[in-house]
Amino acid sequence: MPELPEVETTRKKLLPLLRGKTLLKVLHQDPLRYRNTEGAEGERVLDLGRRGKFLLFALTGEKEMVVHLGMTGGFRREKTPHARVEFVLEDGCLFFHDPRRFGRIWVVERGAYGEIPLLARLGPEPLEAFPFSPFYQGLRRSQRPLKALLLEQRLAAGVGNIYADEALFRAGLNPLRPGRSLSEEEALRLHRALRAVLEEAVALGGSTLSDRTYQQPDGAPGGFQTRHAVYGRRGLPCPRCGGPILRLKVAGRGTHFCPRCQA
Ligand code: ZN
Repeated sequence: MPELPEVETTRKKLLPLLRGKTLLKVLHQDPLRYRNTEGAEGERVLDLGRRGKFLLFALTGEKEMVVHLGMTGGFRREKTPHARVEFVLEDGCLFFHDPRRFGRIWVVERGAYGEIPLLARLGPEPLEAFPFSPFYQGLRRSQRPLKALLLEQRLAAGVGNIYADEALFRAGLNPLRPGRSLSEEEALRLHRALRAVLEEAVALGGSTLSDRTYQQPDGAPGGFQTRHAVYGRRGLPCPRCGGPILRLKVAGRGTHFCPRCQA
């Protein structure tokens, strides 16, 4: 699933293509997944922001188009067999490609996220103001395993399976540890590791896995997959100690870690 670095890369690549452009038509056949899109027609794109894994298109008319890429969604400049939505601009088209159809689009009054509860209750952005104290307090209040806590989006927005595993490895913390078991020093390591991993991944354009579902809008792959220390590396040697990487299910998600390096 696209996580913060993939969504941020998409944002950066789309912004110059869309800023100032009018969305003449938004064409699709699925009004349940892509809601109220007629409300965006005729409006100009003023800016493109991001919260967690959501793309936020600021439109004229005090409107906002919110896009969640879901499991396999992405924007493409070329039409694909799985193009579900076609955005007609003055100077061309842009496509929302989504083979598995988990992506969603909403057009709302700016900032009115009542029908998007996941967006309304996101925690802080880890690459912006990301104060340590509430992060630590959030960990201390929970018995849940670290991996589950990171996926909840309340400690930090936009972290998913890949970057949770990589940040926990970098922090040297076992994904099964309950949040409240962390010392302040350990919580600080996790806080720093999250920022570092996400910053590096954004700089490299995100991670394109072997299924190649995530691509940048121009079709280029990301580059962070070559830096994965644990994610998707079950049975392969840990880059730190050489022991085998294990994979377990935590909170229903495949979780990769080194049992020697992550205590
Ligand atoms: Zn190791």
